[in-house]
Amino acid sequence: MYIEKPIATTENCRFCLMCRHVCPVAHVTQVETLTPHGWALTIASVDRDLLEWNEETVGVVYKCADCGNCRSHCVTDQPLPDAIAAVRDQLVQGKLAQDVVYEIQQALQKWGNPYEKEAPQPVQGQGEVALFVGDEAKYVWPMALEAVLKLLRCAGVEPVLIGIGRNNGYLASSLGLSQTAETLAYANLEDLKASSADRLLVLTPGDFFTFSQLYDERLGIDWPQDRELLEVTAFLNDQLEAGALRLKSTGDGIPYVYMDPTHAVRMKTRHAVPRQLLKSVLPTAGLELFWRQERGHPCGNTALQFTQPQLADQLTQARLTDTVQVGARKIITEDPGCLSHLSRHASQFGLTVQGLYELLAECLA
Ligand code: SF4
Ligand code: SF4
Repeated sequence: MYIEKPIATTENCRFCLMCRHVCPVAHVTQVETLTPHGWALTIASVDRDLLEWNEETVGVVYKCADCGNCRSHCVTDQPLPDAIAAVRDQLVQGKLAQDVVYEIQQALQKWGNPYEKEAPQPVQGQGEVALFVGDEAKYVWPMALEAVLKLLRCAGVEPVLIGIGRNNGYLASSLGLSQTAETLAYANLEDLKASSADRLLVLTPGDFFTFSQLYDERLGIDWPQDRELLEVTAFLNDQLEAGALRLKSTGDGIPYVYMDPTHAVRMKTRHAVPRQLLKSVLPTAGLELFWRQERGHPCGNTALQFTQPQLADQLTQARLTDTVQVGARKIITEDPGCLSHLSRHASQFGLTVQGLYELLAECLA
């Protein structure tokens, strides 16, 4: 059962080293304070009046990526990322957070996204299947959305678009802006209701995690039980197996890796599907990153891109270094946020970045 007060988990984590080896921030910084037990000990020490909140300690709390690797490797399922988000919420309430957090809060409250001064678009029409667009597919990598719509049309599905230009709520929650996260969550659920769809497709594991788990555990908002939630990758794979979607091979033999998107580690059973889709269009099997699947590391598309941009870049560069080290020349993934971050740095590594949905759309038979 999920614990009522996640901050209490820091008492269990502060002297535990069992997930330290999988923390991506610990890997790129090599700083002991920036490890799961380091964050827990910092929080527990403030609680004991051994430390106080100041620029340094607040900065430490805002350096966790909220990626979920620690909890995914915890045999007792301690929700340390939720504890850190809850502490950030207290810092926000006490006006102790970094200035940028309040700037993002204003943008999310006014525009529903941190990228453009543009309000989310209303839902048009109704149907059985809806697709959550969000803000990253609208503003930072729209090619993914175009490709998905093309693929779905070929499978005979014309989805109702919801949440067009609106953040799913993860960013706000991760920054400690739980009331803003709640507002965004309710707006997205209202869109779903307006669409009358009984199935919601999502573009990324990050959306899936946010709707299926974060809303409930961090915000106390239930996902409507009568609405099925499904990743687009899983839907396309089902269509492919049923013969409702036909793809042809590209003949492109460039050695590649598939990068499990940010938050994929939070969904234990999703790892085979995107690899299967790639197998259906590429002549060779992909190489594998060291940090993959159940130990997949994120790139920079978490709240760190706003609060700690250098650290976000380090995480993205670590994914590209991993790609080079396994001998691949191309990195493929489907998450619009990951694609945008990887693309900013890929040329320095002699790599190309390919969107999974775009690749599949190019291969429609
Ligand atoms: S999340 Fe689990 S494994 Fe990680 S520090 Fe806490 S108790 Fe240890
Ligand atoms: S959420 Fe990610 S960055 Fe934060 S402590 Fe856990 S593994 Fe490390």
